[in-house]
Amino acid sequence: MRHFAVRAFALFAFCALLPGALAEAPARTVIVVLFDGFSPFMMEGVSTPNFDRLAREGTSSRHLVPSFPALSMVNHTTFQTGCWPSHHGIVANEFTDPVLGRYGSKMDRADAAWRTGCESLWQAAERQGAPAAVFNFVGRWSVTGGSQAHIINAEVPWANHEDDDTIMAKAIAALTGGGSRLIALYFDYPDSVAHGDGVHGDKTKLAVAKADAIIGRLFSAIAALPPGRAITLVVGADHGMTKVDKVINLGKLRARHHFEADVAYGSGSAMLYLKPGQNVARIVKALSRYRSVFAVYRKGHFPSYAHIGDSGRVGDLLLTTRPPYAFEGPELMTPQIAALPENIIGPVVYEPKVKWFHSMHGFNPDVEAMHAIFYAWGAGVAPGRILPRVEMIDVAPTVLDLLGLKPGEGTDGKALELAP
Ligand SMILES: [Zn+2]
Repeated sequence: MRHFAVRAFALFAFCALLPGALAEAPARTVIVVLFDGFSPFMMEGVSTPNFDRLAREGTSSRHLVPSFPALSMVNHTTFQTGCWPSHHGIVANEFTDPVLGRYGSKMDRADAAWRTGCESLWQAAERQGAPAAVFNFVGRWSVTGGSQAHIINAEVPWANHEDDDTIMAKAIAALTGGGSRLIALYFDYPDSVAHGDGVHGDKTKLAVAKADAIIGRLFSAIAALPPGRAITLVVGADHGMTKVDKVINLGKLRARHHFEADVAYGSGSAMLYLKPGQNVARIVKALSRYRSVFAVYRKGHFPSYAHIGDSGRVGDLLLTTRPPYAFEGPELMTPQIAALPENIIGPVVYEPKVKWFHSMHGFNPDVEAMHAIFYAWGAGVAPGRILPRVEMIDVAPTVLDLLGLKPGEGTDGKALELAP
């Protein structure tokens, strides 16, 4: 304490002699990393020295709670806007817009113009004078609005996306150059392998180790900066993942109960867009027979956790289930799988002998396996703290608060207290 007092006095005396910019604290830079489908359970049995360091020296949570449904496009958008899906408009990975048609049909799903409101982190930062560099995130670009940040990597079909080394080189150049106050990076794993390999599979373990190495490279880049730079790292994921065994076949359901509907599939949830002229009450009554396996909600009567609103993008009926069940249908199967007798005849709810799925998400936020990793580390963050729960809507306002900026327009979340 005594040393601190002496140092504080010396700093005060030094600053008093230097009016103007030299006396001001350096502008903080925040690096935001979003991994895809990363449950804390995936770290079991994997050496993660860099995530361990984030937890030890920073603030962390095993419960970053996604907005419902716990799907990628929904939560990439919630993460970057701090808005509920009812406000930002990305209500599922698949939906139908009354004007634009099927999500992703007229323009790429990553196009920021699909949003119906709310600023992204980078828009809010740049509006307030903090330049941003954004790599591989959805919403960094729009056909109509162009680049949404000072620096972005080119928007290309995901199959051709720039690899880790390329975007890490660009991000580290942005960090070293000092011109970007916000640097945002997205990586599509462990989700990309965990769907097929499971939460504890060997490929998933390798993906977790690869994610840990990304954090290690950022630590090295931060350590190589000249003294005096104030850096904060914020790391999260869009949702968790869990094993499913049984399917609720929505193709069979439509046939068995004689109704027609387009489906927005979300594994743990699904929306039905009923074709015109059908008796909604009859369909709800028929589906209610399955209440031990899944719940049915009419538009306007969705459960309180489902902040998806009642816009034209939302289906007439919302179905939700719990592990080990998942909604499936012929639209999701290969022609060979769809032609198997077990997927055409027999019960609506069953465990297929030939599986085409393994681990899934899209469930409601009460399902703990949907919760994702969260870490904050560095300038403005207390060491060694564990938060019991972090809401996905609170991440964007927290990042902006760390930058000394106000929340984005229309945001629903609020900044976390990361330093006591
Ligand atoms: Zn995802």
